[in-house]
Amino acid sequence: MRGDTYVTLKYMNILFVLHYLYCGIILFPEESERMNRKLWGFSLFLVIFIGVIWMWNGSTDAQEEKSAFSPKSSEQKQAPSQPIEKKRGQASSKPVEQPEEKPKKTPPEKKETQEPAKDKQQPSDKADSPDDPDQVDHSNDRSASTPRVVYQGPSTSKQVAITFDDGPDGKYTPQILDILQQKQVAATFFVIGQEVRKHPAVAKRIVNENHIIANHTWDHSYLPKLSESRIIGELNRNYREVYKTTGKKMSLMRPPYGATKGIEKNLYQQGYQIINWDIDSRDWTMPSPVTIQQKVFAHVKSGSIILLHSGGGDRSRTVRALPGLIDKLRNQGYQFTTVDRLIGVSPYRE
Ligand SMILES: [Zn+2]
Repeated sequence: MRGDTYVTLKYMNILFVLHYLYCGIILFPEESERMNRKLWGFSLFLVIFIGVIWMWNGSTDAQEEKSAFSPKSSEQKQAPSQPIEKKRGQASSKPVEQPEEKPKKTPPEKKETQEPAKDKQQPSDKADSPDDPDQVDHSNDRSASTPRVVYQGPSTSKQVAITFDDGPDGKYTPQILDILQQKQVAATFFVIGQEVRKHPAVAKRIVNENHIIANHTWDHSYLPKLSESRIIGELNRNYREVYKTTGKKMSLMRPPYGATKGIEKNLYQQGYQIINWDIDSRDWTMPSPVTIQQKVFAHVKSGSIILLHSGGGDRSRTVRALPGLIDKLRNQGYQFTTVDRLIGVSPYRE
């Protein structure tokens, strides 16, 4: 029961009580004792009824407040527009493949149409949710001014964050790590849990070479279609795999396809800062390396979060595009940083 209904009911009951007291005591003082007893009994019942409602409502409110995790000041809204998700073919089996992400950007911008189908199959994760020891309540460790869904960092300094989704794989992610090492660039990798399980050495390498590892779910499922417990399972399963492999307790996440519609609060309450992007290189459409670079150069600005892919398919074009991309951005005066530093949050839990 919420606000107005509750208040109305409460005052109606108070009026009823007053009415009966008035009738019983003032109007018919000498009514039979039986009549008075009935009126008093009824009044007592109403008083108890109100009390129960009052208490129940109070506890409901408290609970809601607790879970509301009010991010910050009341005027804090989330990113103006939610990513739209479109229907995807429901294939089955085969998680990662071509990425597809498409979020909407903070500033109105042309949108691209894409979204391939990909899909989920994934089984029972429910067992995964509850008993996660680390799952406790990580809700409060975010900066008070960070919105739930981040699309870009502050434009105050000429920095950008390169992000790689859908890895690690055994072929392209290592090549990307080589390039990053050679160019002395730190990046953020949104990894898929089942790929981490297949390529643990690459996941370790990501961390050992000072990049940030972040959660991109267990098998790249489209989260808005899943139940709350399945969503939690997707995150927890990956979280545990990464923790087991690298010792890192991830607190940044990116939903597959950038799809956050209706689940931002849930993800946020799991202690994750949701990171999407403002620059989609569209490398997942497998254009030429030059086209990938141009896509970035055309829209990049201070604070940009750039989407690229290190796994989930043939990433040879991304690999070929990367050195030139880094060099040219550097020549334009951009510095590279990781997403957590760009927006000022911690990438891992304590
Ligand atoms: Zn992805």
